[in-house]
Amino acid sequence: MGYSQEDERIIGEQFERLMASCAKICKNEYDKDLIQRAFFLAKEAHEGVRRRSGEPYILHPIAVAQIVVDEIGLGVKSVVAALLHDVVEDTDYTVEDIESRFGPKIALMVDGLTKMSGVFKTSASEQAENFRKMLLTLSDDVRVILIKIADRLHNMRTLQFMPPHKQMKITSETIYLFAPLAYRLGLFAIKSELEDLSLKYRFPEDYKQIEAKIAETEADRSRFIEKFNAPIIEKLKSNDIDFEISGRVKSIYSIWAKMQRKHVSFEEIYDIFAVRIVFRPSPLIPEKSQCWHIYSLITDIYKPKPDRIRDWVNIPKANGYEALHSTVMGPDGVWVEVQIRSERMEEIAERGFAAHWKYKSEKLSKEEGEFDRWMKQVREALNSSPENAVEFLDNFKLSLYTSEIVVFTPKGDSRTLPQGATALDFAYEIHTKIGNSAMGAKINRKIESIFAPISSGDQVEIITSKNVKPKAEWLEHVITTKAKQSIMNFLKKENLNNIANGIVLFEGKLKEYGVPPSARVFRKILPAYECATKDEFYSKLGAGILKLDGIEKILRDNPANKILKFWTLQIPNPFRFLGVDEKKKNKKLVVDSSEDTEESQFIIAPCCNPIPGDEVVGYKNEVTHKIDVHKKNCNELIKLAAQHGNNLTPVTWSSHKAMSYLSVLEMRGIDRIGILMELSQVITGELNINIRELHIQSHDGIFEGRISLYVKNIKDLRMIMEKVRRIKGVEQVNRVENKIE
Ligand code: MN
Repeated sequence: MGYSQEDERIIGEQFERLMASCAKICKNEYDKDLIQRAFFLAKEAHEGVRRRSGEPYILHPIAVAQIVVDEIGLGVKSVVAALLHDVVEDTDYTVEDIESRFGPKIALMVDGLTKMSGVFKTSASEQAENFRKMLLTLSDDVRVILIKIADRLHNMRTLQFMPPHKQMKITSETIYLFAPLAYRLGLFAIKSELEDLSLKYRFPEDYKQIEAKIAETEADRSRFIEKFNAPIIEKLKSNDIDFEISGRVKSIYSIWAKMQRKHVSFEEIYDIFAVRIVFRPSPLIPEKSQCWHIYSLITDIYKPKPDRIRDWVNIPKANGYEALHSTVMGPDGVWVEVQIRSERMEEIAERGFAAHWKYKSEKLSKEEGEFDRWMKQVREALNSSPENAVEFLDNFKLSLYTSEIVVFTPKGDSRTLPQGATALDFAYEIHTKIGNSAMGAKINRKIESIFAPISSGDQVEIITSKNVKPKAEWLEHVITTKAKQSIMNFLKKENLNNIANGIVLFEGKLKEYGVPPSARVFRKILPAYECATKDEFYSKLGAGILKLDGIEKILRDNPANKILKFWTLQIPNPFRFLGVDEKKKNKKLVVDSSEDTEESQFIIAPCCNPIPGDEVVGYKNEVTHKIDVHKKNCNELIKLAAQHGNNLTPVTWSSHKAMSYLSVLEMRGIDRIGILMELSQVITGELNINIRELHIQSHDGIFEGRISLYVKNIKDLRMIMEKVRRIKGVEQVNRVENKIE
């Protein structure tokens, strides 16, 4: 079935728009022809197919290509690959067909994109491993990841057509992986939009509320910004600076995240906007100096906050971001963040990766940029083939977002590491060999342990020794993916060596007694040496932890008793592992699943501790075969959903049974005589509520309290919070999300 005339008109219009955007990247007629041919092939291949929204499918690849050229700034080949990105996946065309028509490079990109879509369709636990495979394409061709991000962005922009549980899966993947990746690749605008869209579907009420408040305060804000900007404009103009100034409101997501993190209301966030100055550099003076010149002109007018200057001009962020940020005291005693950038820096900030490369070729110096160094790290980490893909992904994800410190080698080269890194992380950052033999460190010329934390500006030198080798405890003292992977690889290799040595030692010893190594022998040996497996026994033996003295006696012994002891030790406690109260496991929980009504068993997830009335999502736990009930905004859930999205299941609370749930409140306020009494009266006065624990301490006229109480549902909890809030002196009451610390 073909498309209607109206469809054809819209398709034509959208493609025209794409071609107009591509005018700037097409060098000749051949380029234009290539894009047109890709469009015709994709259109023909997806002919008659429609998206959930009802629109012709071909509009999706066109939109992705449009993002690729307009918002990421990639070239002709990427536009072609974007147009073809779903062709091999969804139609009868093969990669070979693409290759014969568009050449090997484009075919390779389409192949990468096809493999990646497979990642998000597989079930459950394979997904983490597949993420790793997907990230491997980073080392082949970063453009593939960038097109995938464009694809995800368009899917997020059209997410309203998906059913709710698919929305949850997609938004989780987006917030867990795609937004951090976009950030890391320098695509700030796209990262913000992905975050905002995720929020819009995860917490529509919160999103709408913040959106409305931003609109509500718009007039006041504009007036303030105008007042703030006026003297700056005058001053910069009189200094012949060509510039643009604008006041920008932060993204809805970043405002929301701050409200969550700091438990504050919208009104309490003071840095809701920033003023940005983008200048056209004059060719004779270095950009850097011009940034500082503008900074000094502004601080002539407004006093800067001394500890709030961020100099990413001299040392750009690892994702390539360059700018000078400062916070100054504006009119009416309000702190205002000012960002100073050149036009080039602005483009890098908006476009990220692509702009970075564009300018990189113009740079005279050939020094390796921070960005390239990060890419190298990712490549190394990926190639070291970790055993546990989920763990790798967690580490990798952390490496995307953590704030950074910059430290120096003895020769004065700078290295960027995540905040909280130790000298040992630095050693591995320099080279795996240096890490593996690190004995100590000189931090700013002072001898320190290799576990010593390092901070921005430190000069670090690593002292190595041939006699040193990595130990398992090192893992607790490093935070970078590279260091962790290197140490684990070393230990794994060492373990294999130990096993091999152990086998030789053991079999040699058995020969002395003329006993062949049989299952019977191991039944005696393992419990006697308190080892769970043969490998553990061999490995400990090979490492010299175990000695074979007295083995003769063990071989002759009757092993029955010891085996018993050994096996009892081996029984794991699944509930302890899950962190769930042992007592709870037998109680029926008052949660009903709309999908599964028979004999369902739920576990209230201890990480977020939802109570009736909270918005919840169920997660099918493959270990316990029960459904864990998480709060919708639980971080643990987001992680699980991103890795095993298919295990999500909708659940709702049923209200017909009365049970009590443990909840914890935290409060702060100004101490006064009688406040404790009033507090306990308010709480104990409620019939539905039982206090388990009340803990209040007071210092310097401030009191802080923590109450554990049993409530029936969120309504009761809200009511009690409201009553406590009304007590004179109480400034803050918050629900503690996570009771297990
Ligand atoms: Mn797609």
